[in-house]
Amino acid sequence: MDFKPISGREFPRFSAIKTFFRLPHVDVQKKFDVALFGIPFDGGLSYRPGARFAPTSVREVSALGRGYHWTRGVNWTEKLKVADVGDCPVVPISLEKTYANIESFVGKILKSDKRFISVGGDHSTTLPVLRALKAHYKKPLSFLHFDAHLDTYPAAWDCEYHHGTFARHAVEEGLVDPKKMIQIGIRGPLASGEDLDFVKKHKIKVLTMDDVRKGHISDFCKKIPSFDGPTYVSFDIDSIDPSCAPGTGTPVPGGLTTYEVQQILRSLKIKNLVGADIVEISPAYDISQITALAGVDVMFELLCLMASNK
Ligand code: MN
Ligand code: MN
Repeated sequence: MDFKPISGREFPRFSAIKTFFRLPHVDVQKKFDVALFGIPFDGGLSYRPGARFAPTSVREVSALGRGYHWTRGVNWTEKLKVADVGDCPVVPISLEKTYANIESFVGKILKSDKRFISVGGDHSTTLPVLRALKAHYKKPLSFLHFDAHLDTYPAAWDCEYHHGTFARHAVEEGLVDPKKMIQIGIRGPLASGEDLDFVKKHKIKVLTMDDVRKGHISDFCKKIPSFDGPTYVSFDIDSIDPSCAPGTGTPVPGGLTTYEVQQILRSLKIKNLVGADIVEISPAYDISQITALAGVDVMFELLCLMASNK
């Protein structure tokens, strides 16, 4: 097996069964470098539903994905062996059971010595992924979090675990190191000024949209510190402006353009990117698949980042 996308010459891009980037669908135990998978769970959403359908939509749109990165001069399909390992089994009516499934699914990927990129799912699914990573690496991770929201919010309807609390739990459980944690794309409005207490208390570096737009995007990119140690990137699609990514559950105006996202991802200095996710894509609210396409582009940039470090 060569772990390469199906050729568009052999089977045009609109044909063939859809996997991520037209890669082979294989068992996780096979020997390769990067596992792509879906987490079709949206039981942690508080507003518009539908993120459970994101893996299907992103697989379809990723048929247009390609390998060579013009700016980096690297082709991930040549540098890395990548495969689609399918979807993590989920229980649509139980967040608790789904968390256990995700932790064990990611644990298997890590045990077989692979990196990974997943497509959620809502942002509550990132917490069990980080639990599996902490168990594997035995230390808190460096963490880059793209989002319109802080996701350090309080419990809602007396439920501790939902898509707006994963980052708080990740810090409180010691899964990520708040000193090596950066949030990008954050903007208001908030429910109250107290929502900022958590990031202030833990001295988490929050780079807001005002920070992004102060000067040229290249000036902003220079302000992002480099990451050392095992590093995880969580990309909430609502960090992108609703004009570029309307298909999401809790859209917030005034966000990143897809071009700014590309510039930021290309500038990152991450030596050891062990895993990443793209979450909160809600296909029912998408228009002409542009949100799913933005998700595919983030996956492409992250694959090229992994390939550049190999
Ligand atoms: Mn989020
Ligand atoms: Mn968000």
